[in-house]
Amino acid sequence: MRRAICPGSFDPVTNGHIDIFERASVMFDEIIISVFHNPGKEKGMFTMEERVALLKEATKHIPNAKVTCFSGLLNEYCKQQDTKFIVRGLRAFSDFEYEFQRALLIKKIDHELETVFIMTNAQYSFLSSSGVRELAVFGGNISGLVPECIEEQLKSYIAKKNI
Ligand code: ADP
Repeated sequence: MRRAICPGSFDPVTNGHIDIFERASVMFDEIIISVFHNPGKEKGMFTMEERVALLKEATKHIPNAKVTCFSGLLNEYCKQQDTKFIVRGLRAFSDFEYEFQRALLIKKIDHELETVFIMTNAQYSFLSSSGVRELAVFGGNISGLVPECIEEQLKSYIAKKNI
């Protein structure tokens, strides 16, 4: 079975992520969307559990997708999940340097691991989780940026957090 991991912070999931999942899901038999604790990023807005819940709801329509969360080394997690493929999305040049380094580093750790890049859909090339967070906190309109089915949930999480 060809299985791939789609790791990310997903704080929160956006339509840009969903587009990458949908396209990866036709390339692999199973995709494992995994919320990773990224020590390089600030604490974040949503808890790991909240991110997983939002992702599960937003990916219900992808039959070969499962959602997990993990904290630790990605190469270890790949082994645990029995996969050699890591899917990442690429937006502008700004993503490239970071992704390039990450891909080479993971290859150095385990030469059997392949990072597969999927180019952003042009209509989501500007879209980031941090942009959605900023908009949502200040009551901006996030429709069209996040999956419709989680828009209300997202707003109520933010209201509950009293940010
Ligand atoms: P990370 O903290 O690992 O960068 P993110 O949740 O920010 O996690 O992103 C997860 C993956 O999705 C990354 O590969 C990122 O480049 C990609 N991604 C994020 N937004 C988009 C988008 N709008 N279009 C395509 N890929 C995206």
